[in-house]
This record gives sequence, C-alpha cells and structure tokens, in this order.
Amino acid sequence: MHRLPLLGLLMAAGVASAAPVTVDCGRLLDVKAGAWRERVSITIDNGKVLSIAPLEPKPGHIDLSAYSCLPGLIDMHVHLTSETQKEAASLADDLRGNPADFAYRSVPHAERTLKAGFTTVRDLGASDGLGIALKNAIANGTIAGPRMFTSGTSIATTGGHADPTNGLSQQFSHAVGTPGPVQGVINSPEQAREAVRARYKEGADLIKVTATGGVLSQARGGQNAQFTEDELRAIVSTAKDYGFRVAAHAHGAEGMKRALRAGVDSIEHGSLMDDEAIALFKKHGAWYVPTISAGRYVADKAKEDGYFSPMVRPKAAAIGPLIQATFGRAYRAGVKIAFGTDAAVYPHGENAREFAFMVEAGMPALEAIRAATLGAASLLDQSANLGSVEPGYAADILAVSGDPLRDVTVLQQVRFVMKAGVVYKQP
Ligand SMILES: [Zn+2]
Repeated sequence: MHRLPLLGLLMAAGVASAAPVTVDCGRLLDVKAGAWRERVSITIDNGKVLSIAPLEPKPGHIDLSAYSCLPGLIDMHVHLTSETQKEAASLADDLRGNPADFAYRSVPHAERTLKAGFTTVRDLGASDGLGIALKNAIANGTIAGPRMFTSGTSIATTGGHADPTNGLSQQFSHAVGTPGPVQGVINSPEQAREAVRARYKEGADLIKVTATGGVLSQARGGQNAQFTEDELRAIVSTAKDYGFRVAAHAHGAEGMKRALRAGVDSIEHGSLMDDEAIALFKKHGAWYVPTISAGRYVADKAKEDGYFSPMVRPKAAAIGPLIQATFGRAYRAGVKIAFGTDAAVYPHGENAREFAFMVEAGMPALEAIRAATLGAASLLDQSANLGSVEPGYAADILAVSGDPLRDVTVLQQVRFVMKAGVVYKQP
C-alpha cells in the first residue's frame, strides 16, 4: 500500500523527496570496477546516494529486484531545441517559426530523452537563448528533462556551419542584418574573444565552435576548415578565463588538427580523422565524441528524395557513412571516447541505439557504457558527482531487464529512470 503513493508523489513533485528513499536492485553495475554487485539496496537522500548495502526488502522500498541497475546515461552531443524534418517543413519553420514555437516543441524532446535513460546531456548549440531557458526550466522542476550543460549559441565564421543566416535569400539576409560575435559569428581573434564573453553573458556552461563545414548547413563545404588557428586559440584561451570547456565540431582533418593544436577539449563527429589527427588527440588528451547515430541517419535520409535540400544531400551521402569506421579506428588507437549522438539530427529518445553501433564497430559493451558514464562525466568536469552510483554522487539510476554487458540493445528499453532522487519512469 505504501509504494505506489510514494512513487506518485515523487513523480508529481519534480523535486527530491524530503525523506530518504531506498531502491532495491537485483544487481548494480559498478562502472569503475567493471563488475556487477548482486542484490543491493541503494538509499538516497536529498537527491544524492547516501549508502549502498546488501539488499534488505522493506515496505516503502522501490522494488527493482528483478532488474539490472546502472548509473544514469550521459549524452555529450544533443540539440534538444530542434528535431530533424523534411526540407520543405524546415524552410517553412525558418520563415514562420518564432522562438516560442520552438521552445514549446522542445518540451517533449527533453522528456523523451530523460525517459530513454539519459539523465544528463550536453546541449551543443541553440539559437535565441532556447537551450539556456530549457536548462533552467528543467533545473527548477517546471518540466521533465535531463540535467543540461549547454553551450548556448554556437560560434562560427561568416557562411560557416552555424552562421544563422546561411541559405537565406539576399532579401531576407539584408533584413536580418549581418550577424556578429553576439550572434555567434566571428572573423578575427578579437571577435572570437568577444563571442566567448557573449556566451558567458548569456549563461552558457561551455563553448561550442564549428571548426569545419557541416552536413546540415545550407553551404557547399561539409569539411573545409572554417577558422584560422589564431582564432581558435583566442577562443580556447578566453574560454579558460571563464572556466568553460570547448567542444569543436569537425569533419575535415585540417580544421580538426587546428582545433586540437589550439587545445579544445573535444572533437565532435571527427569524420575524416587521419593518423596525424589521432596523434594530436593523444598528445593533447582531447576527447572524441563520435555521433555515429547521426552519421547513419543522414546517410539513410540522403537516399530519400526531398528529405534534404540539393545542397545538403550529397554531403549527407558522403560524410554520414564514414563516422562508424572512424570511431572503430580511433578506439583501437587509444583515443579517449565520450558517448555522444547528435540527437535532433535523428529523433530524440533513440539515443541508446548508439551503444549498438559502438559495439558493432569493435568496442566492448562495458567500454561503451563507460563512455556514457565515467568518460562523459570526466569531459563535463563532473567526475565527483555524475557517472557512477556511489555515496555522494547524484542519485541518477536506471534499470533494464537482462544484462547490457551481454546484449547492449537492452539499453534501448529502459524500465526505470531516477534523476537526482526523483522517479520519472517505473516498470
Ligand atoms: Zn550537433
């Protein structure tokens, strides 16, 4: 009689329960040891794990004794404020959509992501302050979603990937005006510093820079270098002043190497990574965030008439299929890998398919899970708070049926989700 009302209360409130809560797990994955702990009771107080003890069922405990528990998953590359759609629909959005329209649509994206077991995400680029507003709405319990770390507006160069005026007619372009550092477009080291400071002012947690062309922008180049190295160095050194880490989108090798030499913390996609780039990753200790899911999805959609514009379609067909093989090479070469998918390029909530793609490319399931827990937490500079279920850590816990170390696809069917001690999904 106790259990259900308690769960209902926790789910409705959107805040951690005042009294300690206990979750009984059939087993719990110790990601640091790489082993299961059989039959444990996890006690949670004030949103954090208080203690882990041998399982002792009691009235009022949350009974997950038939399930395998894991730390909440972390996706290091999402865009919760948008989602893939056909060219015609996205053009109509560009013309008619207001920021508030996109804000309302973001709400189910966030909820789907959380219920898929992703209790934390890094949101890499949103316009109009949407990412920061969404993060705040989730943090204060207004809506259900993953804990967010957001870059706010991406930093690009004129005509580069993430220039918000790409593809607009001259008439619209002139009406909108030329974007500058505040809108995330720079063309000198001086402006690069201003753009980083503008992200600080808007409330970002980190910096996202588009070091090369991109697949989905209305521009010819998908891989050309789009920043000079001194512009990238200006971004990284200014970011350090504010305690920001820097994530660099890069497909082509030259832009990737400039970003790595400039000292960015992670490379996103990395499609055309060569041996020299791999050596730079290792020399500088940078992380690789592969986003295989996005590569596969755009390669598939490139086969469909009218899904992408004529400008985007050949880039999606050429670059999309490369990422999975690049990931396999980078892993075997010993590059540090943090899990990331580029959700929005494919539908939100399907993030866990990435695990199967990683395993298919040669990474053991345990290492793929570590990339989405310990690795991601380290890249977020949250190693003492996220990525593991142990005393003092945020109570981010999920449960699945079966053994994800034997069959990683069970992570696509998450049965239970708790974030910071609050239950959002139960069997
Ligand atoms: Zn992205």
